[in-house]
Amino acid sequence: MARNSRGEVNVLSVNGGSSSLKLWVYAMPEERRVASATVNIADQASELAGFIDTLERDGMGIDAVGHRIVFGGASHTTPELVTPQLLEQMQELIPYDALHLQPELDAVVIAQRHVPNVPHVLCYDTAFCSRMPRIAKTYPLGDEFGGVSRFGFHGLSCEYIVSVLGASGKTVIAHLGNGASATAVLDGHPIDTTMGFSPLGGLMMGTRPGDLDPGVLLYAASELGYDNATLRKLITDRSGLLGVSGSSPDMRTLLARRATDERAALAVDLFVYIARKQIGALAAVLGGIDTLVFTGGIGENSGEIRNGVAEGLRYLGDIDVRTIPTDEALSISRHVHALLSARTART
Ligand code: ADP
Repeated sequence: MARNSRGEVNVLSVNGGSSSLKLWVYAMPEERRVASATVNIADQASELAGFIDTLERDGMGIDAVGHRIVFGGASHTTPELVTPQLLEQMQELIPYDALHLQPELDAVVIAQRHVPNVPHVLCYDTAFCSRMPRIAKTYPLGDEFGGVSRFGFHGLSCEYIVSVLGASGKTVIAHLGNGASATAVLDGHPIDTTMGFSPLGGLMMGTRPGDLDPGVLLYAASELGYDNATLRKLITDRSGLLGVSGSSPDMRTLLARRATDERAALAVDLFVYIARKQIGALAAVLGGIDTLVFTGGIGENSGEIRNGVAEGLRYLGDIDVRTIPTDEALSISRHVHALLSARTART
């Protein structure tokens, strides 16, 4: 593994969202953040090239690249070195989450072109929860639904939080951002989580509904006449805070409008209510909660939402409620560094 004169390895982490690409560089193993940028996904090739050029002008080489990949399914449960074969295997998973996976894999190819001759590693957001017990991964469905299982997401965020907390006790990690989930962790191990087969399930989110009675989709398809593409759009982009408020998917905006806008108030109240209800279910699975962690844009920034959710959980006794800013890029950099160090040690 290449190291610079200080013995460090510069790891670029690439985290593609629906509209932006977040780029971070950590010098490892010191975990020193040395550069970052958020670029527009529409111009990701040129933006990435510009970012790399700037780093090179500053005398900073990239020694390895880690990519956040939303979905690894049942067969990709640890970080893996990118090879043509791996990229081919990943294509087979696209039907599970075409919306995220295709642009993420495109970004890998673009990054390989702009940062050639260094190892690229895929880090799966489903990997952490792939270690949940079988009972938490199973849907009550028959063999007709082969391959459908509860995978769980936000794993890179959870791993970072666990590294801050240390691996002991009964913890619920509430990652509340545009996407939102809560994960039950026992002594550092995932026990259950609110997102399941896709990042659409579980808690209410910015534009996604979270858990729904499956009858709603059957009714929408047969009686409201929505075809598959329309249903996908409605469930992915038009539900959640946006659907209920009718005006915005953004929690900060809704909190500001709430006093004069009834629908904004209902959206905020429902978000809190559902989060509290589902964290209560995770408390039952864990047999109590020692630590409740809030993270993500809403969890980190809104004391009001945190208090609303935690308030209803008081009956559980003395819970240590903490706010910890997450760092998925550091999780990725740690994975990349660990994988490459293990390879170097073997050769
Ligand atoms: P993503 O899941 O896309 O990474 P973030 O974790 O950045 O999203 O979270 C975005 C959400 O955080 C938005 O709903 C935004 O309004 C909310 N948010 C950010 N700052 C605040 C704040 N001060 N108060 C309430 N909500 C906030």
